[in-house]
Amino acid sequence: MQLNCPHCQKANRFPDERIGDGPTCGACGQALFSGVHAVDSTGLAALTAQARVPVIVDFWAPWCAPCRSFAPTFAAAAQKHGGRLVFAKVDTEANQDLGARFNIRSIPTLAVFSGTQELGRTSGALPPAQLEDLIQQVLQQVSK
Ligand code: ZN
Repeated sequence: MQLNCPHCQKANRFPDERIGDGPTCGACGQALFSGVHAVDSTGLAALTAQARVPVIVDFWAPWCAPCRSFAPTFAAAAQKHGGRLVFAKVDTEANQDLGARFNIRSIPTLAVFSGTQELGRTSGALPPAQLEDLIQQVLQQVSK
């Protein structure tokens, strides 16, 4: 798969099966999954094409104040759980096709994917403890 580094934005290529091994960026050496990946439809397709690690997607928009206030919470969770989950965000203003395709009615909306299957979604800016609960539920769900 090809993925842009969340730190330096350089495109990295690596085999899908290595996604659980903590791949690092060939350019800056930082962990590829230690941050939040800003993706468009191509990037989201690449992330969900692999089914090894669940993908949690924050659908947001720049004009949405609750979205902006949630961003640091999401980024902190990405630092903590990078590798066990892939964290991505979709700007629904710039990617209206994705908002429509996933039928996003309110933002922020968090959607969780295992492969191309959506496991569930939740709307609203979650406090850190609730986001942590959600992540633990996802990890339990996919470990079964
Ligand atoms: Zn990098």
